[in-house]
Amino acid sequence: MTLIHALNTEPKAFAIHDMWEEAENIRTFVFKGTLGSKPGQFCMLWIPGYDEKPFSIARDYDGEIWLTICKVGPATEKLFEFKKGNMIGLRGSFGHGFSTVKNKNIVLVGGGYGTAPLHFVGKKHQEAGSKVTMIIGARSANLLMHEKWCEEAGFRVLVATNDGTKGTEGFTTHVLQDLLAKEKIDLIQTCGPEVMMKAIAQMATDEKVACEVSIERYMKCGFGICGQCVTESGEKMCQTGPVVSADKALGYTDFGVFHRGSEGQRKNW
Ligand SMILES: Cc1cc2nc3c(=O)[nH]c(=O)nc-3n(C[C@H](O)[C@H](O)[C@H](O)COP(=O)(O)OP(=O)(O)OC[C@H]3O[C@@H](n4cnc5c(N)ncnc54)[C@H](O)[C@@H]3O)c2cc1C
Repeated sequence: MTLIHALNTEPKAFAIHDMWEEAENIRTFVFKGTLGSKPGQFCMLWIPGYDEKPFSIARDYDGEIWLTICKVGPATEKLFEFKKGNMIGLRGSFGHGFSTVKNKNIVLVGGGYGTAPLHFVGKKHQEAGSKVTMIIGARSANLLMHEKWCEEAGFRVLVATNDGTKGTEGFTTHVLQDLLAKEKIDLIQTCGPEVMMKAIAQMATDEKVACEVSIERYMKCGFGICGQCVTESGEKMCQTGPVVSADKALGYTDFGVFHRGSEGQRKNW
């Protein structure tokens, strides 16, 4: 076995089996097979002849892999031109995922396309006897995603939109604050804009509730060799993360403040 095989870094070819729109410019792609992923892990998707980019695994069970992808720039625009039957490559799964816990009261908070990995972890919590609440946030109702999946799974679903077109008008943090005042929560897990996650990590810390956040940094190799995805503290988010505890995240000076682009240039959130 070569190192490339051992590290799970050789792309495997998959045909796009199915796809549908989740929301405006947000599409779920389905592939037959498995990457053996745990919720919160990610894979590298190779767009042949173009580029390779990291995406959270939205589902990996029942013989299907689902990725929910938002069209934001050149690579995702290219991918959105692909049709059913077209081939792509997937490497992974990589990284450290979310914890799953038994018989607890869990709140998941997703913002924008960051909602992508949360249904998968919610299902695992449910199987372990935990109660799952999913707070989904977006700028507007037309950008909300995975609401139906979560309702069908039997999660309690609460929605927040910045413009009030659906659910609570405002931010997911407002909905979470209400819940924290009303009930005992054992674990909060969140993925979305870093400013949102930082506020959630701080709220959870203040209330002494366990919390995990999923941190995105620019990723190239996905398995710890290139060092592109380090935080300012020098931790590689493709290996230590993307999911880390709130305590750890709050210790990163760049968390919720800035990230770095493909050439290391600083970009404020
Ligand atoms: C662990 C992880 C999980 C992710 N999961 C999802 C997901 O489930 N769904 C989804 O829609 N998007 C996800 N992303 C973001 C996704 O990788 C970017 O949106 C995509 O790479 C954009 O490429 P682009 O050429 O279309 O846009 P660009 O215009 O090149 O970039 C748009 C934004 O994406 C960021 N980005 C671009 N390339 C990378 C890269 N190689 N690594 C990290 N960030 C990059 C840029 O910094 C910029 O903020 C995830 C990123 C990471 C790191």
